Amino acid sequence: MIKVNHLSKTYGSNLAVDDISFHIEKGHIYGFLGPNGAGKSTTMNIITGCLAATSGEVLINGYDIYKEPVRAKSCIGYLPEIPPLYADMTPYEYLRFVGEAKGIDPFRLTQHVEDVMNMTHIENVRDRLIRNLSKGYKQRVGIAQAILGDPEIIILDEPTVGLDPLQIIEIRELIKELGQEHTVILSSHILSEISAVCDRIIIISHGKIAARDTIENLTASKEGGRILSLDIRGDMQKICSVIESLKDTVSTSVTHGLSGCIHATVETASGVDIREDVFRLFAKHDLPIIQMNSNDVSLEDVFLRLTSDNAVSSYDSTSRVAPQDSADAPSGEGDSDTVRNEAPADDDDYKPLFGGKDGGDE
Ligand code: ADP
Ligand code: MG
Repeated sequence: MIKVNHLSKTYGSNLAVDDISFHIEKGHIYGFLGPNGAGKSTTMNIITGCLAATSGEVLINGYDIYKEPVRAKSCIGYLPEIPPLYADMTPYEYLRFVGEAKGIDPFRLTQHVEDVMNMTHIENVRDRLIRNLSKGYKQRVGIAQAILGDPEIIILDEPTVGLDPLQIIEIRELIKELGQEHTVILSSHILSEISAVCDRIIIISHGKIAARDTIENLTASKEGGRILSLDIRGDMQKICSVIESLKDTVSTSVTHGLSGCIHATVETASGVDIREDVFRLFAKHDLPIIQMNSNDVSLEDVFLRLTSDNAVSSYDSTSRVAPQDSADAPSGEGDSDTVRNEAPADDDDYKPLFGGKDGGDE
């Protein structure tokens, strides 16, 4: 459906999008996830033909967005970060205007505008001025203009920013409905939003693709991987050598903790419980464990690890993974640079972030 090949964009000396490649397949809701400034809006503006790339190629259903913009754009409905609304029009007038601009058959337009207003639940405000609508309704009108003309692909840039919790739930439901008939790309910096709505995820960080995966694989990782958080009393070097000798670990780290204790975090793969081994080993070396907690690796941990250079270093030591030495990590795991530097895959075979049973990222 959409093929993005080696896309880059620089603003002056600022490299906002750095040689990214990915494919979008039909029938999925894709989450384009990344922190603010990651390059989401820039990428979406390029894909939708609103912004020229510095280099690279975008094909929409085989049409090059620069060489055949009209054909390519006719496949896409786009809601930019700031909805392109005319405040002095009513939703009905505005949607008719957009429909005409999109070249929708005038005989079909009246009924189509009614259908789109029904679908986005804005019939009750159809004759109010857009300037007087709440932000939630404005966002619905924005989504309505995107789906007008029934494009195959709908691209929504941060559609729930600034909405209250109820409005957020309503917009999410609407996006899920749209996903039944359309391919949807939804950008957000909020992980819970992506996991609530999308079935596939592309994580972007510093203008590069940090990960691509299905939500199932992420959830599997979440349920499987565990982080053991330990406070141990004793000599740092002795503790480090015991930690190093532990089997079945994915990553480990040791720092100075509170009250003279050494704080260690040990991540294990799915289905591995090393708590008893840890207890015995430290007891054998006469290193008392003051506290031991076992927590799931959360989606948030994964996201932070992939998108922040040093995000983990300021973590609350009781529940998060501390900085790790990626040299010990298996393929597909490790710090964000390791993952960011992976070769962009040209196919769309999604791979687990943790390099688990289905193999690691190349
Ligand atoms: P996101 O949507 O993920 O928050 P953006 O694509 O808006 O990120 O921005 C990516 C980077 O490009 C940021 O560093 C931002 O400051 C920069 N940027 C975005 N738009 C412009 C612009 N028009 N001129 C200069 N720099 C820009
Ligand atoms: Mg943005």
